[in-house]
Amino acid sequence: MSSRILRVDPWNPAPETIEEAAAILRFGGLVAFPTETVYGLGADGLDPRAAAKIFAAKGRPADNPLILHFAAPEAVDDVARVSPNARRLMELFWPGPLTLVLPSRGTVPSEVTAGLDTVAVRMPSHPAALALLAGAGVPVAAPSANSSGRPSPTDASAVADDLGDAVDLILDGGPTSVGVESTVLDVTGEHLVLLRPGGCSVEEIETRTGAEVLLSGGAAHRSPGTRYRHYAPRVPLLLDSDAGRIVRAARESGTGERRIAWVGMHAPETSLGEGIAHPELRIVFDSPENYARGLFHALRAFEEEGADLIAAQWPSSDAGIMRALRDRLTRASMKE
Ligand code: AMP
Ligand code: MG
Repeated sequence: MSSRILRVDPWNPAPETIEEAAAILRFGGLVAFPTETVYGLGADGLDPRAAAKIFAAKGRPADNPLILHFAAPEAVDDVARVSPNARRLMELFWPGPLTLVLPSRGTVPSEVTAGLDTVAVRMPSHPAALALLAGAGVPVAAPSANSSGRPSPTDASAVADDLGDAVDLILDGGPTSVGVESTVLDVTGEHLVLLRPGGCSVEEIETRTGAEVLLSGGAAHRSPGTRYRHYAPRVPLLLDSDAGRIVRAARESGTGERRIAWVGMHAPETSLGEGIAHPELRIVFDSPENYARGLFHALRAFEEEGADLIAAQWPSSDAGIMRALRDRLTRASMKE
């Protein structure tokens, strides 16, 4: 059996559709919904039983905490201590793809925080997501709506493919605009610390706050979720632009004709040759923003097209959205 899917206009969501979804959240059910980053799998973040359903549906490790989503910044004060610095970040970047890790007030169940004394909070900018959050009237815990470890879903069909009937309702608002998850920033200490690069760039945070963002190196600073292999297609992913190495890796991965897919910002080298990187297995984006927007969809599309190996172009620098792209590509290509 598959989940019910309701179409929703992303810009002008129908109130009756939103109310139906919000009621499911209030009664402890699961609703997948679009945000500007990726699709989220939402549940009442103050209800431990509802939150537990998220972990079960995704197969998510219990030690990986969830982000709470809000319709307005003021509501965060009920669950977290908001410092002046955090308040300023909310004013500058909310609604938008920036998640803040703050000291918890202890009102959020440990299922959501994975037992940490901090809590991650975000206000998305997607109009349908905001309407749903306002209708639910509770903080909504919502990780990406994929099976744990798979590429994040950027459209409703990816959610349905991964989660099947494990969700009560999928709101289909079309493809998401950013395509990678939010940036996660630790605001609990003296310095801003980047826990996960995402849709909001480090440069933008530094320029608009005037403060330096430290890059988390040590394990102590890591976000629990960043320990895992993640975002991975079922097909091996190679981060390389060298045709010779790609072809060799394809040969080593099996016998017979190998179907090699290519994703990047320029066409694959012509020496990739006949029968390799077939036109339907080639996706070339014209900007880093479009690469980020389309990467996860491309990985899933290549699986369906029967690719044996995916080669992805490594972004040329860490600037802007390319920092998040590098992070997702690295973890999607990890062996285990
Ligand atoms: P997802 O919602 O699947 O995109 O993942 C949420 C990310 O936020 C994961 O990397 C989590 O580890 C991270 N996260 C959530 N809560 C916290 C927290 N309290 N401290 C640090 N990282 C967190
Ligand atoms: Mg995720």
